[in-house]
Amino acid sequence: MREQFERIFGATPTGVWAAPGRVNLIGEHTDYNDGFVLPIALPQAVKVAARARPDGRLRLYSAQGDDVVTDLSVAALAPGAVTTWAGYPAGVVWALREAGYPIGGADLYFDSDVPSGAGLSSSAALECAAAAVYRDLYELPFTAAESAVLAQRGENLFVGVPCGVMDQMASACCTEGAALFLDTRDLAQRQVPFSLDEQGLLLLVIDTRVKHDLGDGAYAALRAGCERAAELLGLAALRDLPAAALSGAVAQLPAELGPLVRHVVTENVRVGQAVELLEQGEYAALGPILTAGHASLRDDFKVSCAETDLAVEAAVAAGALGARMTGGGFGGSVIALVPKDAAGQVEQAVTGAFQAAGHAAPNVFTTTAAAGARRLA
Ligand code: ADP
Ligand code: MG
Repeated sequence: MREQFERIFGATPTGVWAAPGRVNLIGEHTDYNDGFVLPIALPQAVKVAARARPDGRLRLYSAQGDDVVTDLSVAALAPGAVTTWAGYPAGVVWALREAGYPIGGADLYFDSDVPSGAGLSSSAALECAAAAVYRDLYELPFTAAESAVLAQRGENLFVGVPCGVMDQMASACCTEGAALFLDTRDLAQRQVPFSLDEQGLLLLVIDTRVKHDLGDGAYAALRAGCERAAELLGLAALRDLPAAALSGAVAQLPAELGPLVRHVVTENVRVGQAVELLEQGEYAALGPILTAGHASLRDDFKVSCAETDLAVEAAVAAGALGARMTGGGFGGSVIALVPKDAAGQVEQAVTGAFQAAGHAAPNVFTTTAAAGARRLA
């Protein structure tokens, strides 16, 4: 990292930071409904070597980027001005400035092993890495959760992606060996032990390597649908609908909104159940909750696709205790909870099913709950 930084920027970096990607165990499309989520950080992370610059320039380079140094003026950053990957880290710097922090320029060299566009939150990892760099270089007093909110603000307003806060909170606040139980309304958080190994289980990530283009517009439409439903029900957010009132609410809503509400309300219940099971050490019982979550995303929220449905189906048929897509949907990745001795057959079954269906081979790997954003050196 240091040598590459020196080659690109002709100077020595002050340090090296890292911010991870994530998988969400359960609680999908709940964050922008003020609901609950339960992500873990991945061992895969964005690493960044950086130094401060006294001249107010923000210079950004990524080993996975466009092979140019993006050179920006911190004082002149404005929403919409950066249309490449560099908008994600630049958006954080813009948000810091907007929040009134006294910041200057910096050189940042990024190198990441988080698969990009795979539903594993490479964009939030870029943002949280930039936030960690700025916090240390400019001795800013914000907490990890505050950095996540600033990163989300950058992605929402500077880049123009209407994402919720889960991805940034996961990258900033997760801890090793734990899942982050997060209330996205008030950001109350609890670290829930997540150590599958002791139970003879493991978590497989199946990156389907597909990303369907309808995703971006569809995400915004779903979010708008949820907001409309909450408004019609007289609620601040769908999170406020008690499960006992669900069927009555669905009956009174337009036909296209009912299933959205059903997903959000049942998904929040599933998060609560999952937390309880993890805290009791009943990891295997998490399986059916994952699979039920997938059915809800497929049938009610309609954000799965042929590839993610096939991965879930093939994994469960081959011995996974449960599986679901993770991330916003329309492609991306699936997680599967698997007894260790069945991992090989599950991977083979999924790969075989993809081949038989004429899909490109998925990227399958085992994961553990890793640490959130931090300084490495
Ligand atoms: P996800 O966050 O699930 O990976 P997004 O579509 O939100 O998917 O973010 C992917 C985008 O993030 C890429 O199109 C690219 O612009 C940017 N990105 C991710 N990783 C890198 C990287 N290492 N270098 C440069 N840009 C990256
Ligand atoms: Mg993203």
